[in-house]
Amino acid sequence: MPGCDAAHALDVLTIDAKFQLVIMRRRVRPWHCARGQPQLGSIVKEVAVLVCGAGPVGLVAGLRLARAGIETVVIDKAQGVSEDFRASTFHPPTLEMLDELGLTQGLIDHGLVSPTWQIRRHETHDKALFDLSVLAGDTRYPFRLQCEQRVLTRLADALARATPNLQVRYGVELTGLSQDDADVTATVMTPDGPETLRARYLVAADGARSACRKLTGMTFTGETYPETTILATTPFRFEDHLPGLSNVNYVWCEQGTFSLLRLPEIWRCSLYSDPDETIEQALEPAAIERKLQRIVPREVPYEVVEIRPYRIHRRLIDDYRAGRVLFAGDTAHLTSPSGGMGMNGGIHDAVNLSDKLVAVIKQGASEDLFDLYTRQRRPVAEEEILAQSHANRTRMQKRDPAWRDAEMARLQALIADPAAHRAHLLKSSMISGLARAAAVT
Ligand SMILES: Cc1cc2nc3c(=O)[nH]c(=O)nc-3n(C[C@H](O)[C@H](O)[C@H](O)COP(=O)(O)OP(=O)(O)OC[C@H]3O[C@@H](n4cnc5c(N)ncnc54)[C@H](O)[C@@H]3O)c2cc1C
Repeated sequence: MPGCDAAHALDVLTIDAKFQLVIMRRRVRPWHCARGQPQLGSIVKEVAVLVCGAGPVGLVAGLRLARAGIETVVIDKAQGVSEDFRASTFHPPTLEMLDELGLTQGLIDHGLVSPTWQIRRHETHDKALFDLSVLAGDTRYPFRLQCEQRVLTRLADALARATPNLQVRYGVELTGLSQDDADVTATVMTPDGPETLRARYLVAADGARSACRKLTGMTFTGETYPETTILATTPFRFEDHLPGLSNVNYVWCEQGTFSLLRLPEIWRCSLYSDPDETIEQALEPAAIERKLQRIVPREVPYEVVEIRPYRIHRRLIDDYRAGRVLFAGDTAHLTSPSGGMGMNGGIHDAVNLSDKLVAVIKQGASEDLFDLYTRQRRPVAEEEILAQSHANRTRMQKRDPAWRDAEMARLQALIADPAAHRAHLLKSSMISGLARAAAVT
């Protein structure tokens, strides 16, 4: 390739220990030119770790790395902090992990501590009531916290701004990726034009449609479920009308199923199309009103604040590592929100992976640790996160009354048995999945 030999110098924009950008000259290795990467005179920014995606997973990874003294840049193509209307449930081990970053109290301040969750029959109010207080000996947080994902991204973004070694850059989209045995080189589009970022490792936390996954040719095996879920929020006080509600309720009703998840000032209702309805018809305000009226009939219409339809998937990446590119969160696994495990599992990935990056970068540990990361986290995603979410989703989609009776009786018997109840909660609260991962060496 013309103009591409190892003797050429390159202007390199580097972030120094005080987090200031400095330009230095650096020799170009032929590999970069050979792959159409930075040409003579182009500006390259260097960091130890580049994180693609400033969702909950990327921000947690970035904060943990920077706190360990590793220069980290997090990029996100969005123009600002993620305000997505998505996760609302934080599980106990996630709260413990976020507490290490000083984020948990802020979440609690903006959330609802929810010691119980339930599966119930709408018409009879019969229920299987799970009580996380039985986990008091297993976790400092024996409850689910009902709090919006966007509270976490806001808090984490604010913390990132005050964290040395960490820069979060919005409006920066990763568009190209290559790697050799020393670095990953990412081409990004910024508001000021294209740039090249070079890092020892790239944490791919760019979500379901991950560019990092596509650019490394990784497969994302799985399926998309047929139904569309309609998320509708309302300030109506269901708790004053439906006896014995928890803050998290998965409900069977004669016409199908719905769920009611409470947040400090709002209820989130997950609704589904009726059998004779298209999704377009189901999204009509009148159709949403009709379904809310089935939950609690009232003379005045419901105030619906937000409506969001979404499809759900069950997918898993084949390997959490492609050389120096390491996958975490939705880019690695996608699952039904039923049970609230996607974001939580992604944060667990971020914690596991950042520990390994610290060991490799700071303590000279072998890169084989990144294969251990796959061996630890992928089976948990497959057999705990995806499997439980799939079972939860399947349970709620069943319509046969006899099956529902039998399942309700089974769950109530399980709860009546203290050991079985605790074991179930350890699993559904994602505590046993973490223990399982830790046991893999
Ligand atoms: C309705 C709903 C309810 C849910 N409820 C729960 C729940 O209660 N509990 C739970 O645990 N999970 C829940 N989930 C799942 C949860 O929202 C996701 O698992 C979580 O957002 C994954 O976080 P992430 O950081 O991996 O990805 P994301 O949050 O998707 O973040 C990825 C980021 O990458 C950025 N990005 C993408 N491409 C590029 C690129 N090329 N360059 C730069 N940046 C890029 C995006 O802009 C985005 O900010 C729910 C999901 C939905 C839809």
